[in-house]
Amino acid sequence: QMILEGKALCKYYGEGENQVKAIHQVDFSVKKGEFISIVGQSGAGKSTLMHIIGGLDRPTSGEVIIIGTSIYSLPVNQLAVFRRREIGFVFQGFNLVPSLNVWENIILPIGLDGKKADVGYIEDILNTLGIYEKRTNLPTTLSGGQQQRVAIARAIASRPAIVLADEPTGNLDSRSSGDVLDLLRLSVQKYNQTLIVVTHNDEVARLADRTVRVVDGSIAVEALQ
Ligand code: ADP
Ligand code: ADP
Repeated sequence: QMILEGKALCKYYGEGENQVKAIHQVDFSVKKGEFISIVGQSGAGKSTLMHIIGGLDRPTSGEVIIIGTSIYSLPVNQLAVFRRREIGFVFQGFNLVPSLNVWENIILPIGLDGKKADVGYIEDILNTLGIYEKRTNLPTTLSGGQQQRVAIARAIASRPAIVLADEPTGNLDSRSSGDVLDLLRLSVQKYNQTLIVVTHNDEVARLADRTVRVVDGSIAVEALQ
């Protein structure tokens, strides 16, 4: 059962001889519950691909289907609602709001859609991620690893079907990287989510069920592990 399908995805920047084909004719599908890593050199097209499959960046051509919905066929405002509901993003920078405490940061996106947070579920997430005791702390009082766990909690608080993480451990030392990645895997498994991680880190990539390598805007190898 495919949860995400990218079909003939292209993303071109510029015109004529200066045109850059960031992504060219990429087909890409992900099964429900899978953990996929996307690897490749700097400039290969990983971020572009991630932004396209995450509904952040419209492809030049091609189609992205998530849970049966062709997302770029949606009106822009509906695409934003769909994205907030079904896709959780974790970035390298934690992007927490410094004036809000941990709990307020986590429920912020839910409030944007005028919904009420499921308090029991969010408490469970905080316990799973080991930051329940920090729920009233401001982000600046937390370590990098703790801040990234807050960002993970925020990403999964709306119960998205898919979690997209771009270098989620890129700002962390190797010890907290391992902890954060284990907790990310544990929580997506617990809540039945599908995980796609973009990474330069081979150790991170190896943990995935499947690795997709992007070379010059195309998918080169799909290795089963
Ligand atoms: P990666 O994430 O693998 O480092 P990117 O997806 O960021 O690769 O970039 C792929 C290619 O597209 C690179 O050649 C990059 O310079 C180019 N590119 C990315 N974004 C833009 C943009 N906004 N305008 C022009 N070229 C871009
Ligand atoms: P790189 O992978 O090239 O080192 P980053 O991972 O910081 O760079 O960012 C990759 C892309 O993701 C950039 O184009 C940036 O604009 C975008 N990005 C980073 N953080 C966010 C965010 N919180 N929301 C939306 N886009 C983001």
